[in-house]
Amino acid sequence: MNRGLKMADSIAARLSFQEKQISLLTQEIGRLRAAAGAEGAALSACCSPSSPELEILRTENEKLRYQIVHLQRSIQAELARETAAQDGKEAAKKNEGEATGKPQLERGKDKRVVENSTQLHPWPAYIEERLKLYEELKKESDSILASRAAAHSKPITVTLPDGKRVEGQAWGPHPTRLPGRSDSAVIARVDRELWDLDRPLQGDCSLELLRFDHEDAQAVYWHSSAHILGEAMERFYGGCLCYGPPIENGFYYDMYLDDRSVSSNEFPSLESLCKSVMKEKQPFERLEISKETLLRMFKYNKFKWWILNEKVNTPTTTVYRCGPLIDLCRGPHVRHTGKIKALKLYKNSSTYWEGRADMESLQRIYGISFPDSKMMKEWERVQEEAKNRDHRKIGKEQELLFFHDLSPGSCFFLPKGAFIYNTLMDFIREEYHRRDFLEVASPNIYNAKLWETSGHWQHYSDNMFSFEVEKETFALKPMNCPGHW
Ligand SMILES: [Zn+2]
Repeated sequence: MNRGLKMADSIAARLSFQEKQISLLTQEIGRLRAAAGAEGAALSACCSPSSPELEILRTENEKLRYQIVHLQRSIQAELARETAAQDGKEAAKKNEGEATGKPQLERGKDKRVVENSTQLHPWPAYIEERLKLYEELKKESDSILASRAAAHSKPITVTLPDGKRVEGQAWGPHPTRLPGRSDSAVIARVDRELWDLDRPLQGDCSLELLRFDHEDAQAVYWHSSAHILGEAMERFYGGCLCYGPPIENGFYYDMYLDDRSVSSNEFPSLESLCKSVMKEKQPFERLEISKETLLRMFKYNKFKWWILNEKVNTPTTTVYRCGPLIDLCRGPHVRHTGKIKALKLYKNSSTYWEGRADMESLQRIYGISFPDSKMMKEWERVQEEAKNRDHRKIGKEQELLFFHDLSPGSCFFLPKGAFIYNTLMDFIREEYHRRDFLEVASPNIYNAKLWETSGHWQHYSDNMFSFEVEKETFALKPMNCPGHW
């Protein structure tokens, strides 16, 4: 903890030194402007308060402020642990001779630490700047949409899944106002394309409303939840968001955090922030913006810049806003953040930008969400059961096998495990012979040239275990194929 305090002191000293420098520079600019008199206008263009030197200092200062907040959080957590240990000792002393001597942390104290460290004060400066630009663009977009609606509004026919046809209005009422509307609808599908529930229809079309039990709706639901987590991460860590996709078991969001990592001790604070976002029912707003303006909007985030430059090939693309978060995204999403009823963060890890080890290291947080807290409880129960059925746990308990850090992911079979392994191998061999197959035995490691020929390298090399031997690249075979290309 002493190290943490020393570091906080030195960062605070640097911060105050730099703030003095900013103030001196601003004064100097004012003095030069006054001296320049009539030439002031020309001078202000090159030395305005937003000159590159000042911008660099301001960015540096914001980073220092984050570092101080993060150090404060670590020190608070450390203090809470020490208090808990102290309370535990006292409780143990008090309960001496009683059966339960467990340290008991006072609930009030624990809560106070979490509440104190819920989010950054103030929020990162980029949030306000991004929001300001968005508001201006939104006004423009609203008037374009209004004139488009006035020019293209016409009666349309909407075909529902049961074949029923209903009358609608192009650029008018959205699917939720049409028959077949359901509050439990997660997303609409218009002519096979997933469509925000509040997005106006543009012509005759077929319309379906999908609920959480539909695979596509589930992905939209979890993707929308990732935005909630992204908002909480920006307000809590102040870093740069990268990708936040839905996955098989919920969603994740990656963030670049400079020189710090995420700790699962921070999950309660992040979850409480997510819950406040859900309570606010922040609408998901869609806005189409030119690539050029987007590069300006995301100037603080080099990762979004990369996505815009490398992956966006159209002159415009869309951003979505929920609350203070504006994110580069194609959508669609649920109508508002209140549609997410239960949310849990369950894992964190570190990863690399674009999955490449030579790129920046990112922090990843995984979460899951449901439209009903009963579904969350059921998911938690299944996870608990899966933990009990984990082969690493059972294998150890039944003395079948174990794993060791010196050969990660590889199994050491103990005699009982080896017996089961060999019995299974004998069974498979008998089946081969019975079905007239002949056996071959082939290597497990191949030169990457083989995978280049087969095409695996071009598609899967990121997920293959490869290494260099005498200036040639080799890889473990990723599937049970004899290498007979
Ligand atoms: Zn999105």
